[in-house]
Amino acid sequence: QKAVPTGPNMEGALGRVQTILAVASCKGGVGKSTTAINVAYALAKLGAKVGVMDADIYGPSLPTMAKVEKSVVEFQNGRIKPMEVAGVKLMSFGYVNDQSAVMRGPMVANMLSQLLSTTDWGELDYLVLDMPPGTGDVQLTLSQVLNIDCALIVTTPQRLAFVDVVKGVAMFDKVNVPSVGVVQNMSYFVAPESGVKHYIFGKGYTKALQEQFGIPLTAEMPLDPSLSEASDSGTPFVISHEKSEIAQKYMNLAQSL
Ligand code: ADP
Repeated sequence: QKAVPTGPNMEGALGRVQTILAVASCKGGVGKSTTAINVAYALAKLGAKVGVMDADIYGPSLPTMAKVEKSVVEFQNGRIKPMEVAGVKLMSFGYVNDQSAVMRGPMVANMLSQLLSTTDWGELDYLVLDMPPGTGDVQLTLSQVLNIDCALIVTTPQRLAFVDVVKGVAMFDKVNVPSVGVVQNMSYFVAPESGVKHYIFGKGYTKALQEQFGIPLTAEMPLDPSLSEASDSGTPFVISHEKSEIAQKYMNLAQSL
Protein backbone atom coordinates (compact mmCIF):
# COMPACT_ATOMS: atom_id res chain seq x y z
CA GLN A 1 0.00 0.00 0.00
CA LYS A 2 1.06 3.50 -0.81
CA ALA A 3 1.99 6.03 1.85
CA VAL A 4 -1.04 8.25 2.19
CA PRO A 5 -0.73 11.70 0.63
CA THR A 6 -1.28 14.80 2.69
CA GLY A 7 -3.82 16.87 0.74
CA PRO A 8 -7.44 17.40 1.71
CA ASN A 9 -9.21 14.08 2.08
CA MET A 10 -6.55 12.29 0.01
CA GLU A 11 -6.52 9.29 2.26
CA GLY A 12 -9.78 7.82 1.06
CA ALA A 13 -9.39 8.81 -2.57
CA LEU A 14 -5.85 7.61 -3.21
CA GLY A 15 -5.44 5.02 -0.47
CA ARG A 16 -5.73 2.18 -2.96
CA VAL A 17 -3.50 3.74 -5.63
CA GLN A 18 -0.16 1.98 -5.82
CA THR A 19 1.95 4.32 -7.94
CA ILE A 20 1.49 7.92 -9.00
CA LEU A 21 3.48 8.56 -12.15
CA ALA A 22 3.84 12.22 -13.16
CA VAL A 23 4.41 13.02 -16.81
CA ALA A 24 6.10 16.40 -16.99
CA SER A 25 7.73 18.82 -19.41
CA CYS A 26 9.31 22.23 -19.18
CA LYS A 27 7.44 23.65 -22.10
CA GLY A 28 4.04 23.17 -23.65
CA GLY A 29 3.58 21.54 -27.01
CA VAL A 30 6.33 18.93 -26.76
CA GLY A 31 3.91 16.01 -26.56
CA LYS A 32 3.54 15.58 -22.79
CA SER A 33 -0.18 14.79 -22.94
CA THR A 34 0.26 12.51 -25.94
CA THR A 35 2.92 10.60 -24.00
CA ALA A 36 0.89 10.51 -20.79
CA ILE A 37 -2.21 9.08 -22.39
CA ASN A 38 -0.40 6.53 -24.54
CA VAL A 39 1.77 5.32 -21.67
CA ALA A 40 -1.39 5.03 -19.56
CA TYR A 41 -3.23 2.97 -22.19
CA ALA A 42 -0.11 0.89 -22.83
CA LEU A 43 0.06 0.09 -19.10
CA ALA A 44 -3.63 -0.87 -19.21
CA LYS A 45 -2.99 -3.14 -22.21
CA LEU A 46 -0.29 -4.83 -20.16
CA GLY A 47 -2.97 -5.68 -17.62
CA ALA A 48 -2.59 -2.86 -15.07
CA LYS A 49 -5.50 -0.97 -13.52
CA VAL A 50 -4.93 2.59 -14.67
CA GLY A 51 -6.30 6.07 -14.13
CA VAL A 52 -5.31 9.34 -15.80
CA MET A 53 -5.61 12.69 -14.09
CA ASP A 54 -5.28 15.63 -16.43
CA ALA A 55 -3.55 18.18 -14.20
CA ASP A 56 -2.76 20.40 -17.16
CA ILE A 57 -5.33 22.87 -15.99
CA TYR A 58 -4.47 25.64 -18.46
CA GLY A 59 -4.95 23.45 -21.49
CA PRO A 60 -6.79 20.27 -20.58
CA SER A 61 -6.38 17.91 -23.51
CA LEU A 62 -7.73 14.67 -22.08
CA PRO A 63 -11.34 15.39 -23.17
CA THR A 64 -10.10 15.71 -26.79
CA MET A 65 -7.73 12.76 -26.70
CA ALA A 66 -10.09 10.37 -24.91
CA LYS A 67 -13.58 11.34 -25.88
CA VAL A 68 -16.43 10.28 -23.63
CA GLU A 69 -19.95 10.05 -24.97
CA LYS A 70 -21.44 12.29 -22.32
CA SER A 71 -19.31 14.07 -19.74
CA VAL A 72 -22.04 14.09 -17.12
CA VAL A 73 -20.84 14.37 -13.56
CA GLU A 74 -22.11 11.43 -11.54
CA PHE A 75 -21.37 10.41 -8.00
CA GLN A 76 -20.45 7.10 -6.44
CA ASN A 77 -19.25 6.25 -2.93
CA GLY A 78 -19.64 9.93 -2.04
CA ARG A 79 -17.15 11.00 -4.68
CA ILE A 80 -17.16 12.00 -8.34
CA LYS A 81 -17.25 9.00 -10.62
CA PRO A 82 -14.33 9.21 -13.05
CA MET A 83 -15.05 9.04 -16.78
CA GLU A 84 -14.00 5.80 -18.42
CA VAL A 85 -12.75 5.00 -21.91
CA ALA A 86 -11.53 1.51 -22.83
CA GLY A 87 -11.19 0.49 -19.21
CA VAL A 88 -9.07 3.47 -18.10
CA LYS A 89 -10.45 5.90 -15.52
CA LEU A 90 -10.13 9.53 -16.53
CA MET A 91 -10.55 12.88 -14.84
CA SER A 92 -9.96 16.39 -16.11
CA PHE A 93 -11.30 19.85 -15.46
CA GLY A 94 -12.19 19.73 -19.11
CA TYR A 95 -14.86 17.13 -18.28
CA VAL A 96 -16.38 18.93 -15.33
CA ASN A 97 -15.70 22.61 -15.80
CA ASP A 98 -14.02 24.50 -18.59
CA GLN A 99 -13.53 27.80 -16.74
CA SER A 100 -10.26 26.75 -15.11
CA ALA A 101 -7.89 28.62 -17.43
CA VAL A 102 -8.41 31.83 -15.49
CA MET A 103 -7.06 30.47 -12.20
CA ARG A 104 -3.73 31.47 -10.69
CA GLY A 105 -0.94 29.28 -9.29
CA PRO A 106 -1.92 28.54 -5.67
CA MET A 107 -5.55 28.13 -6.68
CA VAL A 108 -4.52 25.65 -9.33
CA ALA A 109 -2.75 23.39 -6.84
CA ASN A 110 -5.73 23.62 -4.48
CA MET A 111 -8.35 22.95 -7.09
CA LEU A 112 -6.38 20.09 -8.55
CA SER A 113 -5.84 18.35 -5.26
CA GLN A 114 -9.56 18.79 -4.57
CA LEU A 115 -10.64 17.31 -7.88
CA LEU A 116 -8.12 14.52 -7.46
CA SER A 117 -9.22 13.74 -3.93
CA THR A 118 -12.94 13.92 -4.62
CA THR A 119 -12.68 11.49 -7.53
CA ASP A 120 -13.50 7.89 -6.74
CA TRP A 121 -10.36 6.26 -8.18
CA GLY A 122 -10.81 2.97 -6.37
CA GLU A 123 -8.05 0.42 -6.74
CA LEU A 124 -5.36 1.39 -9.25
CA ASP A 125 -1.90 0.11 -10.08
CA TYR A 126 -1.02 3.43 -11.73
CA LEU A 127 -2.42 6.90 -11.63
CA VAL A 128 -0.80 8.79 -14.49
CA LEU A 129 -0.71 12.51 -13.82
CA ASP A 130 -0.46 14.76 -16.86
CA MET A 131 1.29 17.71 -15.18
CA PRO A 132 0.93 21.37 -16.19
CA PRO A 133 3.96 22.32 -18.33
CA GLY A 134 6.84 24.00 -16.52
CA THR A 135 9.03 23.56 -13.48
CA GLY A 136 7.82 26.36 -11.23
CA ASP A 137 5.88 26.65 -7.99
CA VAL A 138 2.73 25.00 -9.28
CA GLN A 139 4.65 21.88 -10.24
CA LEU A 140 6.66 21.83 -7.00
CA THR A 141 3.52 22.21 -4.88
CA LEU A 142 1.73 19.53 -6.84
CA SER A 143 4.63 17.11 -6.47
CA GLN A 144 4.48 17.54 -2.71
CA VAL A 145 0.75 17.69 -2.15
CA LEU A 146 0.05 14.73 -4.39
CA ASN A 147 2.93 12.65 -3.10
CA ILE A 148 4.14 11.65 -6.55
CA ASP A 149 6.18 8.43 -6.71
CA CYS A 150 8.12 8.94 -9.92
CA ALA A 151 8.36 11.20 -12.95
CA LEU A 152 8.65 10.72 -16.67
CA ILE A 153 10.00 13.77 -18.45
CA VAL A 154 9.02 14.58 -22.02
CA THR A 155 11.18 16.69 -24.28
CA THR A 156 12.21 17.25 -27.88
CA PRO A 157 15.74 16.78 -29.27
CA GLN A 158 16.97 20.39 -29.49
CA ARG A 159 19.90 21.64 -27.44
CA LEU A 160 17.66 24.01 -25.45
CA ALA A 161 15.33 21.17 -24.63
CA PHE A 162 18.23 19.35 -23.01
CA VAL A 163 18.68 22.29 -20.64
CA ASP A 164 14.95 21.97 -19.87
CA VAL A 165 15.25 18.32 -18.96
CA VAL A 166 18.05 19.15 -16.55
CA LYS A 167 15.73 21.71 -14.93
CA GLY A 168 12.95 19.18 -14.70
CA VAL A 169 15.14 16.52 -13.11
CA ALA A 170 16.46 19.11 -10.64
CA MET A 171 12.93 20.13 -9.67
CA PHE A 172 11.85 16.58 -8.95
CA ASP A 173 15.12 15.95 -7.07
CA LYS A 174 14.21 18.83 -4.76
CA VAL A 175 11.11 16.99 -3.61
CA ASN A 176 12.74 13.55 -3.69
CA VAL A 177 10.80 12.30 -6.69
CA PRO A 178 12.97 10.04 -8.86
CA SER A 179 12.95 10.76 -12.60
CA VAL A 180 12.56 7.27 -14.04
CA GLY A 181 12.89 8.20 -17.66
CA VAL A 182 13.04 10.75 -20.42
CA VAL A 183 10.98 10.57 -23.58
CA GLN A 184 12.49 12.41 -26.49
CA ASN A 185 9.43 13.09 -28.60
CA MET A 186 9.43 14.14 -32.28
CA SER A 187 12.93 12.69 -32.51
CA TYR A 188 12.88 11.73 -36.15
CA PHE A 189 10.63 11.49 -39.18
CA VAL A 190 10.46 8.40 -41.34
CA ALA A 191 10.05 9.38 -45.01
CA PRO A 192 7.03 7.40 -46.23
CA GLU A 193 8.41 6.66 -49.72
CA SER A 194 11.95 5.62 -48.81
CA GLY A 195 11.62 4.60 -45.16
CA VAL A 196 14.69 6.72 -44.39
CA LYS A 197 14.85 8.20 -40.87
CA HIS A 198 15.43 11.95 -40.81
CA TYR A 199 16.64 13.44 -37.55
CA ILE A 200 15.09 16.85 -38.18
CA PHE A 201 16.26 18.49 -34.95
CA GLY A 202 19.57 16.62 -34.66
CA LYS A 203 20.25 13.38 -32.87
CA GLY A 204 19.41 14.75 -29.47
CA TYR A 205 20.89 14.19 -26.10
CA THR A 206 19.54 10.96 -24.75
CA LYS A 207 23.05 9.53 -24.41
CA ALA A 208 24.29 12.54 -22.47
CA LEU A 209 21.23 12.30 -20.22
CA GLN A 210 21.97 8.71 -19.46
CA GLU A 211 25.65 9.33 -18.83
CA GLN A 212 25.44 12.58 -16.85
CA PHE A 213 22.33 11.95 -14.80
CA GLY A 214 22.07 8.19 -14.77
CA ILE A 215 18.46 8.36 -15.94
CA PRO A 216 17.74 4.73 -16.64
CA LEU A 217 15.18 4.96 -19.40
CA THR A 218 15.12 7.10 -22.47
CA ALA A 219 12.79 6.53 -25.36
CA GLU A 220 12.76 8.16 -28.77
CA MET A 221 9.41 8.71 -30.42
CA PRO A 222 9.05 9.72 -34.07
CA LEU A 223 7.26 12.73 -35.45
CA ASP A 224 4.31 11.12 -37.18
CA PRO A 225 1.05 12.58 -38.48
CA SER A 226 -0.89 9.51 -37.33
CA LEU A 227 -0.06 10.45 -33.73
CA SER A 228 -1.61 13.88 -33.98
CA GLU A 229 -4.57 12.54 -35.97
CA ALA A 230 -5.23 10.04 -33.19
CA SER A 231 -5.04 12.80 -30.57
CA ASP A 232 -7.72 14.75 -32.38
CA SER A 233 -9.90 11.70 -33.00
CA GLY A 234 -10.66 10.98 -29.35
CA THR A 235 -9.27 7.44 -29.31
CA PRO A 236 -5.77 6.98 -27.86
CA PHE A 237 -3.15 6.02 -30.46
CA VAL A 238 -2.13 2.75 -28.81
CA ILE A 239 -5.77 1.64 -29.08
CA SER A 240 -6.56 2.92 -32.59
CA HIS A 241 -3.20 1.89 -34.10
CA GLU A 242 -2.38 -1.04 -31.85
CA LYS A 243 -0.47 -3.01 -34.49
CA SER A 244 1.82 -0.12 -35.46
CA GLU A 245 5.52 0.18 -34.70
CA ILE A 246 4.92 3.37 -32.71
CA ALA A 247 2.32 1.66 -30.52
CA GLN A 248 4.88 -1.06 -29.89
CA LYS A 249 7.35 1.61 -28.78
CA TYR A 250 4.82 2.88 -26.24
CA MET A 251 4.28 -0.69 -25.06
CA ASN A 252 8.04 -1.12 -24.60
CA LEU A 253 8.22 2.16 -22.74
CA ALA A 254 5.36 1.17 -20.42
CA GLN A 255 6.88 -2.24 -19.85
CA SER A 256 10.19 -0.79 -18.76
CA LEU A 257 8.68 1.59 -16.18
P1 ADP B 1 1.86 19.04 -24.57
O1 ADP B 1 1.05 18.19 -23.65
O2 ADP B 1 3.33 18.95 -24.31
O3 ADP B 1 1.38 20.45 -24.68
P2 ADP B 1 0.57 17.54 -26.69
O4 ADP B 1 0.73 16.12 -26.33
O5 ADP B 1 -0.76 18.20 -26.45
O6 ADP B 1 1.73 18.41 -26.04
O7 ADP B 1 0.98 17.67 -28.24
C1 ADP B 1 0.93 18.91 -28.91
C2 ADP B 1 0.48 18.64 -30.35
O8 ADP B 1 1.48 17.90 -31.04
C3 ADP B 1 -0.79 17.82 -30.43
O9 ADP B 1 -1.54 18.27 -31.52
C4 ADP B 1 -0.29 16.40 -30.67
O10 ADP B 1 -1.23 15.63 -31.36
C5 ADP B 1 0.95 16.66 -31.50
N1 ADP B 1 2.01 15.64 -31.29
C6 ADP B 1 2.56 15.26 -30.11
N2 ADP B 1 3.52 14.35 -30.31
C7 ADP B 1 3.58 14.13 -31.65
C8 ADP B 1 4.39 13.29 -32.48
N3 ADP B 1 5.34 12.50 -31.99
N4 ADP B 1 4.16 13.33 -33.82
C9 ADP B 1 3.20 14.15 -34.34
N5 ADP B 1 2.44 14.97 -33.60
C10 ADP B 1 2.61 14.96 -32.27
